[in-house]
Amino acid sequence: MDGLRSRKLHFILIPMIAQGHIIPMVDTARSLAERGARVSLVTTPVNAARLKAVIDRMKESGLPIHFVELQFPCAEAGLPEGCENIDLLPSKEYARTLFEATRLLREPLTQYLQAQRPRPTCMIADLCCPWTADVARELQMPRLIFHGPSCFYILCTHLMEQHGIYDRITDDFEPILVPELPQPFEFTKAQLPGCFLAPGWEKLRSEVLEAESTAEGVVMNTFDDLEPSYIELYRKLTGKKIWAVGPLCLYDKDLDSKAARGNKSAIDYHRVLGWLESRKPKSVLYASFGSLVRTHPRQLIEIGCGLEASNQPFIWVIKDAERTPEVDRWLSEGFEERVSARGLVIKGWAPQVVILSHPAIGGFMTHCGWNSLMEAVSAGVPMITWPYFGDQFVNEKLVVDVLGIGVAIGVKVPFPYLKEDSPPAANRDDIEKAVSRLMDEGEEGDERRKRAKELAGKAVRAMEGGGSSTENIARLIQYTLEHGNSDTQEKEP
Ligand code: UDP
Repeated sequence: MDGLRSRKLHFILIPMIAQGHIIPMVDTARSLAERGARVSLVTTPVNAARLKAVIDRMKESGLPIHFVELQFPCAEAGLPEGCENIDLLPSKEYARTLFEATRLLREPLTQYLQAQRPRPTCMIADLCCPWTADVARELQMPRLIFHGPSCFYILCTHLMEQHGIYDRITDDFEPILVPELPQPFEFTKAQLPGCFLAPGWEKLRSEVLEAESTAEGVVMNTFDDLEPSYIELYRKLTGKKIWAVGPLCLYDKDLDSKAARGNKSAIDYHRVLGWLESRKPKSVLYASFGSLVRTHPRQLIEIGCGLEASNQPFIWVIKDAERTPEVDRWLSEGFEERVSARGLVIKGWAPQVVILSHPAIGGFMTHCGWNSLMEAVSAGVPMITWPYFGDQFVNEKLVVDVLGIGVAIGVKVPFPYLKEDSPPAANRDDIEKAVSRLMDEGEEGDERRKRAKELAGKAVRAMEGGGSSTENIARLIQYTLEHGNSDTQEKEP
């Protein structure tokens, strides 16, 4: 891209305050700044503290990225102090309060933007922050949506909405064929939840739908070769400009950048690398379920027992929020000792991209969060798919049935429908079987590994010079030069 021309641009990026939204937005900021544009990424003090290593690295690099810290009004919103990210919520009952609270950022954001001279050129805002539409309208700034999930998921929800299926079907567990897809796929409403359809979320739902329909275009963390027919269908369906600019994780090229993503790691990444160096290529299973999932203690213990029974080397991430006294006792009273020769348990935040990109990793047991999937695809790692909620059941279908790089654990009922005393969604035998199928050195495993490697090659090519995502970023910048706030472009030196 013509760096001189893009230097006139100033993008304002507004992620939803959740790790799976902030991380790809930070990478988007870098993709734009590396092409000469100025970028301001809006965040809050707690999230900025978590991103300290990233922010320091950006400063050192001299990239024109500025992190704008807006005070987050926890007390005013009725949230516990410091609760500035979905993964910090004391329980899921606070989720709606947090979404509502982000609305209170509208006024400080408007003031911040009004004070900027020249005015920012273009806003890229998370779909989950529809209040940003009013800010952009008030300041006459073009606004693009950033979509966190796969295009396949977004497309499926749009098709269900357009055909009135969400209104018509009342049973959450009735299988429904998604209309108009090139291949027939069935989901239940529970597995393919529409946009904020649950009771109590009506206001947010209508705002989100409105903000989406009035946005000028959509930026997505995917790439053309990964889901070409779905991107094309979505483009046709909405008539919007769609820029597939991923896999965004590939912007983190060196180990320090990979390790700094999202939060401070609970373990020095050099220690993880040392552990991985002593393993055979493609022999280690990495098990991690993203930033939001909170697995029940009984299920966690079952996962541990399944990993132990698999006899496979593994790295397993247990989040701080999942460490109940029961889990800690079980870990320390035998489990960690029994598996110490071949298992590494990380308690807290793991340097996921460092781990996934190591040659010793041969498989990933994942909850199918879209960022995790893009990171695995980029590293050529096949997966055991264990969806919990949101877009994850649809992402699973993409990985297992469309791309052929996954083994499904077999969970059909989303996590929110399980009770504390429900039997584990998958037991130790299911886990052991899935691990041995995935890591199998026979023909089926080889074919899966071959497909995953080919896809990783395509992902890397998409991000190289002339690759589809690189071209799409250039097109996005060109679009903004042509349609962005002209006030900025005239006055910028
Ligand atoms: N992540 C990480 N370390 C962890 C947990 C998560 O680096 O211990 C990162 C992961 O690499 C991904 C993001 O957090 O980039 C999680 O996003 P995803 O869409 O996979 O799942 P979510 O957390 O939104 O459910």
